[in-house]
Amino acid sequence: MQNKYGYGHQTIDETDIAAVAEVIGSDFLTCGPNVKAFEQAICDYTGAKYCVAVSNATAGLHLAAMAAGLQSNDEAITSPITFLSSSNCICFTGATPVFADIDPETANIDPQEIKKHITSKTRVLIPVHFAGQSCDMEAIAQIAKEHNLIVIEDAAHAIGSEYKSTKVGSCAFSDMTVFSFHPVKTITTGEGGAVTTNSKELYDKLCALREHGVHKDGEMANTWEYEMRELGYNYRMTDFQAALGISQLKKLDKFKARRREIVEFYNHNLGLPHLIEKDFSTACFHLYPILVDNRRDFYFKAREKGLNLQIHYIPVHTQPYYARFGYKKGDYPKAETYYEQCISLPLYPALSDDDLNEIIKRIKEIL
Ligand SMILES: *Cc1c(COP(=O)(O)O)cnc(C)c1O
Repeated sequence: MQNKYGYGHQTIDETDIAAVAEVIGSDFLTCGPNVKAFEQAICDYTGAKYCVAVSNATAGLHLAAMAAGLQSNDEAITSPITFLSSSNCICFTGATPVFADIDPETANIDPQEIKKHITSKTRVLIPVHFAGQSCDMEAIAQIAKEHNLIVIEDAAHAIGSEYKSTKVGSCAFSDMTVFSFHPVKTITTGEGGAVTTNSKELYDKLCALREHGVHKDGEMANTWEYEMRELGYNYRMTDFQAALGISQLKKLDKFKARRREIVEFYNHNLGLPHLIEKDFSTACFHLYPILVDNRRDFYFKAREKGLNLQIHYIPVHTQPYYARFGYKKGDYPKAETYYEQCISLPLYPALSDDDLNEIIKRIKEIL
């Protein structure tokens, strides 16, 4: 049993360490075979046709927004309850970020709210699968179809999750899906991310933009020649990170099972308001937020008891940078009410049943 608990922690074992060590001693630290193999493994797992591994999910979202053709004078809609990257990627392209309020049961973007914010400038929707639970993708895909929009799923929380009978990342109801492999996420590569798609056209764009906008096709393939046709970035993943990713992905279903067990344990033993899982979802849970009154008090009391909990998230539209778009407190009341009460409990596979009982004991002492 531990004395201190954070809200999340990576799960690394000897096989992960061996996988990385092997690549570090090989010829290719980057641009080698492991990145391709990791991309293929993600395709095999999710059912997507194509995958592009990237340096982190923020880079992946940026590439996806560019590949979607987003530019200044366009608008894209995302959730206010998310990490900054989901909407910063819109700003990177010069487009205007627009938010749509959440469904308080799931803290996911509400398709009915999306409809209220669609204008003639809207080009892209970025639903975020909060805490690992998929958004209502059929409803979102229907809106996208009616208004000719590109859908980019921010699945930073949701590798391993399912929507109806599809894996998140299959892009059955979207154009692209972005995963994060930051250590606090379900599987890790240190820093890292991936974009999946079923479109060859988007795949080719993502690949070129990941590497400076450089193309090497036709006759060029056998020579030193290459052409830069657009302004891209260096958003590559290294081979030793990809080796860690391959090793981690093999354990994903085990992580998912333990994460669901922990969520059910909290649901049954705490009796505190928490998010509801919809019938269409089989989540690989990333977070377990509870809702409490007097959250600030709860946060500090928990810290005194060795529970270093976290708040997911400060509504993005209330950040000072976003004031330039005219946003202010009160614009998205459901997101703001959720934020006032939420606090995420420890959720990661390494927690034992003894740990969980200890955490529950400490929480009940606070209440
Ligand atoms: C973590 C996270 C990101 C960013 O991931 P990085 O890999 O750290 O860039 C984006 N969106 C959401 C919802 C996240 O939680």
